[in-house]
Amino acid sequence: MAKYLNYSGLTLDRAAALRRDEAWVARHLAHTQTCILPVWQGRNLIHTFEAASRPPEPVVLTGGAAHTLMGEAGTVVILGVEGETAYVAADISALDEDAATALAGTGAFEDLRRIGALMAGDQGALLAYARGMAHWHARHRFCGVCGAPTQSRDAGHMRQCLNADNSHMHFPRTDPAVIMLVAHDNPEGHGPACLLGRQKKWIDGMYSTLAGFVDPGESLEEAVAREVLEESTIRITDVRYQASQPWPFPSSLMLGFRAMATTTDITIDRRELEDARWFTPAQIRAFGEWGDEPPSKNRMPRKDSIARHLIDDWLGDVEG
Ligand SMILES: [Zn+2]
Repeated sequence: MAKYLNYSGLTLDRAAALRRDEAWVARHLAHTQTCILPVWQGRNLIHTFEAASRPPEPVVLTGGAAHTLMGEAGTVVILGVEGETAYVAADISALDEDAATALAGTGAFEDLRRIGALMAGDQGALLAYARGMAHWHARHRFCGVCGAPTQSRDAGHMRQCLNADNSHMHFPRTDPAVIMLVAHDNPEGHGPACLLGRQKKWIDGMYSTLAGFVDPGESLEEAVAREVLEESTIRITDVRYQASQPWPFPSSLMLGFRAMATTTDITIDRRELEDARWFTPAQIRAFGEWGDEPPSKNRMPRKDSIARHLIDDWLGDVEG
């Protein structure tokens, strides 16, 4: 089994059967030991520490502070249980930032995209899950079938349409996206290389693997081949699954592949990419890190991304 990447490896029991039991849900939401993870406008409540060696941690509220905050929340979702203790995401996005921070009483609301790479993996997974559920609720307040309002059910894991016959149910969505390291044994006469590209909106100098969303009516392997062809005109074969990663920015599941190129001439789609090139292992080893200050000329994708995992794995394989 592939190693757990950031934002996966959740240790909670999701308690999928129990959360349909209204008495079970009510008992856990009322319990003083229930742990609340506040979410505000897509941000999670975080403790940061002055010591650089101590990573940021989620703020978990219990007791009276937790119940006061839950009372103000637009949506609450029981994420799961650890023994008898429930973990609950509570979205207080309707408040302004000062009021939300004051209500929480400690920590600050931070963008997981900014701090996720610094956190322990299972904590990042918990926050990603909380953020993802809050995002889904905020965008499904009305039924996509008939337009009637919807209401949260099953401890926040379903939204029921409130039209006359209550017939439409909506469940959390995840958007599948493929991300692929395309390799070739000798594309430019300097030995093995891989295809990396960059988008204009990315931080200066960062190159990464190509990626894109899966279309309806398309297998994952077909999506990999289509995205590579569209973005670079490179043709590929031998598409092999490597690993997956929840990418909660806002609601993707990244499905990671490696593929071998059968052509070498690159023509980029300028609507998607600013540049794409073949890079040898030696060239990639000379890259700086994502967060380097001052910026490196070329740099790697962030350490918490599956793109980085795919590149590191390929380097390990070609360098033996
Ligand atoms: Zn409906």
